[in-house]
This record gives sequence, structure tokens and C-alpha cells, in this order.
Amino acid sequence: MERKIKVTVWCEHNQDRREPVLSVYPQGMHMAIAEGFLEDPAFEVVTATQDQPEYGLGGDVLENTDVLVWWSHLDNNEFDDGLANRICERVINDGMGLIVLHSATFSKPWQKLMGIFPQPGGWGRFRTMPKGEKERLWVIAPGHPIVEGIEDCIEIPQDEMYGEPLLIPDPDKIVFLAWWEGGDVCRSGCVFDRGRGKVFQFTPGHETFPIFYQKEIRLVLRNAAKWLAPASVRNSSKNREHLDGKPREDLSHRM
Ligand code: ZN
Repeated sequence: MERKIKVTVWCEHNQDRREPVLSVYPQGMHMAIAEGFLEDPAFEVVTATQDQPEYGLGGDVLENTDVLVWWSHLDNNEFDDGLANRICERVINDGMGLIVLHSATFSKPWQKLMGIFPQPGGWGRFRTMPKGEKERLWVIAPGHPIVEGIEDCIEIPQDEMYGEPLLIPDPDKIVFLAWWEGGDVCRSGCVFDRGRGKVFQFTPGHETFPIFYQKEIRLVLRNAAKWLAPASVRNSSKNREHLDGKPREDLSHRM
């Protein structure tokens, strides 16, 4: 039997301790995101938050993570550089999947993996309205595993507008294109290959709106985690013999 996919949901868990976010996510955003994965027995889920020792990612937590799901905002710059590097190494060398949500576009692991270092305000357009704006996430890669079970589009009643031009590298695949009530558009579901791993950037998820309870959003995150999980989940032995540099043909005449 295939083993379960190990998901670690990481959140700053700061804004959700007070209003106006507390009443939207009384158990914390990480718990709402984790709940969405627990709806499917394919997953084993743990949560980690920034206030914990070593940001909740010490010991063998990262080694025991197939897919890391990341929501962060205010404290992106406070995150430890060494730990951010370890996350990148896990993606590139071991094939751990990374799902980057909303304002985690300013997080260190994501920016290091993308080779971009813009600050808020210098990365793309955004518009924060107290009541948000209606957003439609149009599926533009209908055959992609991430959109399995999703109709033509997902409608989110209220979200914070993130709009083009986004200063991101060209994605390996764009799965969703967002339309906004105010007339903007955004590449809002993008896949990037990085070494053995894959990264999925999904822009919805402003903290004051109940987006992580929405069933289609939870389905997208589960689909993404299944697709991002490293091959070793399906294929238990990690075969790295090809990395030892042994020639495939006889090279004795070159010695
Ligand atoms: Zn936001």
C-alpha cells in the first residue's frame, strides 16, 4: 500500500491572534488550511508556526515533509536565512513540494527559489479594500492534475487584488489566471520546476477573508499536494546511483 503524503502547514500565526483576523480564523489560519487536507485520508498533516522553537521546523520536521504549505505576511524578513536555505535544498535536492500562498510571495524560501528579491510595493500591483473584491480564477490548463474536479473557474467573493505585472520568472505552467472586479488580471496559479522538486504559487488567501474554508480552494490545495509530492512517496527507494559520476561506457582508454 502506498504510504500517506506528509504535509506540513506552516504559518506565521500572528495576525490571526487578534482582530479582524481572529474571528475569521479562530483556531488560526494554519488549522483552517490543515483541515482542508484532513478531509482526504491520503494525507498526514502537521502544522508549524513562527513562534515555535526553530520556527516549528527543527529536528527532522523538514525531512519528514513531502509537501510544505506556506502562508506568511508581516514577518517574512524575520525568517531565518539558514532555515530558508534548508527548505530550498529540500526542494531542489530531495524533491519536496512547496505551495506558496498569497503574501508568502515575499517569503525567503520562495524568493530564493525564484532568484527574485522584490519588496512589497515593488513586485506587482495590489489593492487592499476593506470588503475585498470579487475574484474569478479561470482554469487555463484544463488537463492539469491541479484542477481535477474544478469547473471552468472558481469564484471567490472577496479577496485582496494581486495584479499584473508580477515580477516573477516565467512559470513552467500557468494553471489559473485571475480576473478581478476592478478590471485587473493576475497569473494566480503557477507551477515552477526546481531541481527534483516543484513549487506551486497560488495567490488567493488574504487573511481577513474566509478563503481557506472554501471547498474549491481546499480541493486545489489537495490536488496540488498530490501532484507536488516527491516521486519517493510513490516509489519508495531513492535511486541516486547516477549521481556518482560512474561512466556508462568503458572509458579505460581515456585513463
Ligand atoms: Zn493580503
